[in-house]
Amino acid sequence: MQGENALVTGASRGIGRAVALALAENGAYVTGTATTQEGAQQVGTLLSESGLQGSGEILQLQDPASIDALLARLGEQDRMPTILVNNAGITRDNLLLRMKDEEWDDVLNTNLRGVFQLTRGCLRSMLKARRGRIINLSSVVAYIGNPGQANYASTKAGLVGFTRALAQEVGARGITANCIAPGFIETDMTRELSDEQREVLRQRIPLQRLGMAEDVAAAVLYLAGEGGVYVTGETLHVNGGMFMG
Ligand code: NAP
Repeated sequence: MQGENALVTGASRGIGRAVALALAENGAYVTGTATTQEGAQQVGTLLSESGLQGSGEILQLQDPASIDALLARLGEQDRMPTILVNNAGITRDNLLLRMKDEEWDDVLNTNLRGVFQLTRGCLRSMLKARRGRIINLSSVVAYIGNPGQANYASTKAGLVGFTRALAQEVGARGITANCIAPGFIETDMTRELSDEQREVLRQRIPLQRLGMAEDVAAAVLYLAGEGGVYVTGETLHVNGGMFMG
């Protein structure tokens, strides 16, 4: 991936961190984002201390001005991405009957509107270059649902439709767009699961364990690398077999 510029949102923790490291280890220059300046600095430090090329940037996906500011900085640095990994996402769980407007809006604005705006902003340079890889993080709950996650599941299912439409628009210019739908992965997002919930999950997973961030990063490497050249509009399920799409 020498010569590629990758943008990974939410690279400070969890899946995004593993994806940023994997892409950089394969030779890409990685811009990794966090929601705070301190987090962004830590991303930059992680990459440089690992002997890898890249830097950290601040991004708050629910804020259109923050997205525009990131795009402007990338343009100035000549680092518009040839690989865009829309990884950052949030949950605000509640049963639908109790779900507040803000809980709905926060999740929709971050996980779906933010991805739309950032992707649109990255598209022009990919279209001009006639190459690009766009990888969006969906979720198994887009397919199987999950009580308390009507907002989150809507965004993750929405990303699948978004990705298919986009794949059809940009395929002729050598750009692919795909989703990865992880199952339950060991990150801060799943840290609050009790031992009992983990055991129930484990029994539903043929491979008998929760996933690791590196398992998802391997799927990103495939889609972003040479092997993924003829795959577009697809959703790759990385869930240990708990749902077979
Ligand atoms: P995570 O550990 O909670 O990390 C979230 C990352 O996103 C952090 O880097 C965080 O930055 C950033 N972020 C949070 N809010 C943001 C915002 N408003 N704007 C921009 N960035 C923001 O998440 P994860 O578990 O690695 O999940 C990564 C992606 O995979 C998400 O889209 C998630 O929905 C999806 N996914 C995860 C699982 C799972 O089991 N973990 C399963 C299926 C799908 P800060 O560090 O600055 O807060």
